[in-house]
Amino acid sequence: MTNFRLAFGAGLALLSGLALAGSPVPDVAPVRVSEHVYVLHGSKERPNPQNLGFMNNPAIVLTETGAVIVDPGGTAEVGHMVLRQLRKLTDKPVTDILVTHIHGDHWLASSVIREAYPGVRMYAHPHMIEEAKAGEGQRWVELMLRFTDGASESTRVEIPQSPLSDGQELQIGGLTFRVYLSDIAHTRSDAMFEVVQDQLIFLGDLGVFERMGRMEPEISSFRGNIAGLERALALKLKYYVPGHGPSGGSDRASAFRDYLKIIYDAAARGMEEGKAPFEIKQQLAPRVEAFRSWTGFNDNFGQQVSLAVLEAEQAAF
Ligand SMILES: [Zn+2]
Repeated sequence: MTNFRLAFGAGLALLSGLALAGSPVPDVAPVRVSEHVYVLHGSKERPNPQNLGFMNNPAIVLTETGAVIVDPGGTAEVGHMVLRQLRKLTDKPVTDILVTHIHGDHWLASSVIREAYPGVRMYAHPHMIEEAKAGEGQRWVELMLRFTDGASESTRVEIPQSPLSDGQELQIGGLTFRVYLSDIAHTRSDAMFEVVQDQLIFLGDLGVFERMGRMEPEISSFRGNIAGLERALALKLKYYVPGHGPSGGSDRASAFRDYLKIIYDAAARGMEEGKAPFEIKQQLAPRVEAFRSWTGFNDNFGQQVSLAVLEAEQAAF
């Protein structure tokens, strides 16, 4: 009996493994957010075998000459799904890809777009390009493979060739894409893109909604992330597209700004008063109640408080 169970279990595992490898990512209907912008909202979970690595918000911007894709997704298989949705919207080619930051869940689908449209131009923060060349791209390919249990097997690195500068304006097919770069915020390579005619901004992972953002030691900055979101909010636009979670109005930027501020301000004050991180965390608990329903809250909150204390200590010197 035991042997039978073992064999049966192993057979199931093998079957599910086979089903996953090369499975197409199911179609996600593009949501029209503004006149020219369509967003495919991905899962709020981390990349896993169930979502096949589709958990960011790829966007298709229709211009007079073709389509601009912002953050095409994290795997080749996601890229194929994005292209299927694109072809429902236009027969025109993809002319440009805009990448918001180094995290592979946002851009590793680019190779598939470039295979289909070899002339595509690909833009990113100069640090994103440096880090991708230094091995971060390949590291993310391996991470996605592990997270998805092999579902991202045909993914390969396609590095952007065009470095952006802060304040730059890209004129593409009758639309103006205004570029906002951060020094250090969610990462050291964050870019936000405003579609001027649509009064819309892509926040990258500076802005997340109903899904908690990760802060990483040495890589992220509470103050930088807050400053980036303040900059986006000061534009008083109609539409804000977060890196993860549903698109909408300015609350898509202000909610996470508020959350980061609550934590950082409490950390800075607690540090001045000589409190330990666990005490600060206890005091903070009732103030972040509104964010407990966000996917990933429990996985991130404790670490975020510790990092905020560390950043406040460094800022004090
Ligand atoms: Zn990210």
